[in-house]
Amino acid sequence: MESGLYVVATPIGNLADLSRRALEVLEAATLVAAEDTRHSLRLLQHFNLRAPLQAYHEHSGARAQQRILEVLAEGGVVALVSDAGTPLISDPGYRLVRAVQDAGYRVVPIPGACAAIAALSVAGLPTDRFLFAGFLPARPAARASQLQSLRGESATLVFYEAPHRISETLDALCREFGEAREALLARELTKTFETVRRDTLGALREWVAVDANQQRGEIVLVVAGAAAVERALDEELARWLLRLAEDLPAKRAAAVVADMTGLRKKVLYDYLVQHRPD
Ligand code: SAM
Repeated sequence: MESGLYVVATPIGNLADLSRRALEVLEAATLVAAEDTRHSLRLLQHFNLRAPLQAYHEHSGARAQQRILEVLAEGGVVALVSDAGTPLISDPGYRLVRAVQDAGYRVVPIPGACAAIAALSVAGLPTDRFLFAGFLPARPAARASQLQSLRGESATLVFYEAPHRISETLDALCREFGEAREALLARELTKTFETVRRDTLGALREWVAVDANQQRGEIVLVVAGAAAVERALDEELARWLLRLAEDLPAKRAAAVVADMTGLRKKVLYDYLVQHRPD
């Protein structure tokens, strides 16, 4: 096999998803650079592979990178793997890929499982444009501000979320995007308890709140992009509408803004019902 850094996708649950090419690369590897060597050792053992493992994670220093560059300098094959799915996708590796490219060696993708793409493929939401937003910040203020910056985004949004935060995140999404926005919760993809449900954010929030099983395992949230009308209601106009509704009944405030902008009264009224502070 030609020398280079091979960025190898591994399964996100079901081991049968490891591709034949991935197996060939792992078989031929002089070195496997792994996010967590114990985790990847189990994968290698399952396939009876014996390549030497080296840790390569977010906190790996220059020495780990240097060792990889030395293997490449000697004409070796290095496979980069993460704990699950495609390396670099909410996983370490981009600095290594850059360093290897800058040093003039080959970098080869070995595509395969990726939780974001798997979730999108069954979301039943538009996929012509999507924005991968990774993990939201854990701190509520930072999370709210990130969601506010995404509120008017028309592309479908994809988030990764930890199970112990899914309830909080659905609350925050309902607050910032409105309960009526459609979304998909994809949990434990390719595993025994795989669950995929598309509904409104409000309904998903209720479902997760009453069924503790939905707060377990690994989760991707796919959220519909903002509808054209929500985009038209840009931030400044939305602020005007909410301010008017402090002094006027919601129907009246919606009617005034509809007169001023030509937007539909019903749409403005619905927006107020969803976003007006209680
Ligand atoms: N590199 C991985 C990929 O290609 O999908 C993602 C790594 S990221 C550290 C881990 C997150 O991916 C989990 O917290 C979860 O949000 C998502 N994830 C991974 N496996 C999953 C699965 N089987 N089902 C649902 N989500 C999954």
